[in-house]
Amino acid sequence: MLLKNEREEVIEYGKKMILDGLTKGTGGNISVLNCEKNLMAITPSGIDYLKLCPEDIVIIDVETGKIVDGDKVPSSESDMHRIFYKYRKDIKAVVHTHSKYATALSCTNQKLPAVHYLLAVAGVDVPCAEYATYGTVKLAKNAFKAMEGTKAVLLSNHGMITGGETLAEAYNITENVEFCCELYSISKTMGEPQILPKEEMEQMIERFKNYGKRTEEHEEI
Ligand SMILES: [Zn+2]
Repeated sequence: MLLKNEREEVIEYGKKMILDGLTKGTGGNISVLNCEKNLMAITPSGIDYLKLCPEDIVIIDVETGKIVDGDKVPSSESDMHRIFYKYRKDIKAVVHTHSKYATALSCTNQKLPAVHYLLAVAGVDVPCAEYATYGTVKLAKNAFKAMEGTKAVLLSNHGMITGGETLAEAYNITENVEFCCELYSISKTMGEPQILPKEEMEQMIERFKNYGKRTEEHEEI
């Protein structure tokens, strides 16, 4: 079976996405890239995530967009996944969800500002891509353009999309962006949230790169 490991990984995260409440029904989609073969494994359209099996995952050629393996219909947003693999060398996995708070913010057509330092997993902030009909190349292009310099964007009146070096990273970004959208919404009801400065967020981005690694630098308390 072509891309067996990638298929299994896509299924694992598809289940997680439903169980973690990050999307509803068959909404959203997940894919991962195999760099050597330049093929992507993506969830099919309209199949319950909890019932997915490896044969249901569709394998697509990144260069041509043609189906290489699978008899199911690929996700309607497969071009929105493929565009990142074709033109962003730092993105090897993509997660698209309709999570509640990110989607709510996308309906206001605003970007998510740095309301919490955890947003640095995605970037300095999370822009909102211009609206286009779901499943269109226009939406793929709008998402790609808006994601320049970040790893997440809101899709106006639709949801969010994230990308990472691995599926674990893209999924982690999705969880944190959703968390920050929720915080933003709650803090807005309490007052005007204090937004972290760009310099602080840039420092956080650097710090996250070394997260879990030992450093010799130490400032005395
Ligand atoms: Zn969608």
